[in-house]
Amino acid sequence: MAHTPRKRFGQNFLHDHNIIYNIISSIQAMPDQHWVEIGPGQGALTEPLLNEKVRLDVVELDRDLVVLLREKFKHYPKLQIHSADALKFDFSALADEGKKLRIIGNLPYNISTPLMFHLLDNAYCIEDMHFMLQKEVVDRICASPGSKKYGRLSVMMQYYCLAELLFYVPPESFDPMPQVTSAIVRLVPHQQPPVAVNDISKLNRVVTQAFSQRRKTLRNSLKKLIDEEEIVALGIDPTLRAESITLAEFARLSNLLQDL
Ligand code: SAH
Repeated sequence: MAHTPRKRFGQNFLHDHNIIYNIISSIQAMPDQHWVEIGPGQGALTEPLLNEKVRLDVVELDRDLVVLLREKFKHYPKLQIHSADALKFDFSALADEGKKLRIIGNLPYNISTPLMFHLLDNAYCIEDMHFMLQKEVVDRICASPGSKKYGRLSVMMQYYCLAELLFYVPPESFDPMPQVTSAIVRLVPHQQPPVAVNDISKLNRVVTQAFSQRRKTLRNSLKKLIDEEEIVALGIDPTLRAESITLAEFARLSNLLQDL
């Protein structure tokens, strides 16, 4: 049964066997690991993963695809198919005590950012995550201070995890072809926070504020949140722009913020 790709579900199915092979080689799936695939689609990554003898849960939103997957993989007892919205799915409920989840997904690009943050809310039960995303988004996640791509997404993602670009994937690797180049990113949640943050929502607030007017100096962009003298007292130059502030510096700034 042929499935017509649905744009509203961000369906771009992988059909390039070299890319699929490269993804499977770089994730190093081992028998009995517990994997979760988000948006399995027609199973382009599901099948090779199952062949690695892993335990696998998949979460798919499109009910027609769920029917197709149930039929295609009915002889795989280690596969559980969840007909659900990954944005609302409780991933922590899948994890058995003491055994972390490994996550993979060729994500629908329109929900990739909220989905990553949803998963990171449960970072304690996640070993690592491999995602296919827009190249542009991966570049932003991995960017360092001083780069034009460095922004809120870089700081917040790097607070939660070690982010590494693995390789780029051209539009021709998908059917239908997306407009943009894609990339595979590896995200490994930190076991210990890399910097001391008292309250993540305060970090989020200060970073969002600083980058909302990224051409302004901190002195100006953070005016409503923190006095210039306080910034100076932290050893941070208030005439700098957000783009040159490190995660450690943002953490120190956030720890100054009052409760709302
Ligand atoms: N992994 C497959 C499909 C990628 S297309 C492949 O590489 O070929 C993205 C997939 O995510 C589609 O199957 C789409 O139906 C599914 N999807 C879209 N939004 C979703 C959501 N909110 N929760 C779970 N799956 C979703």
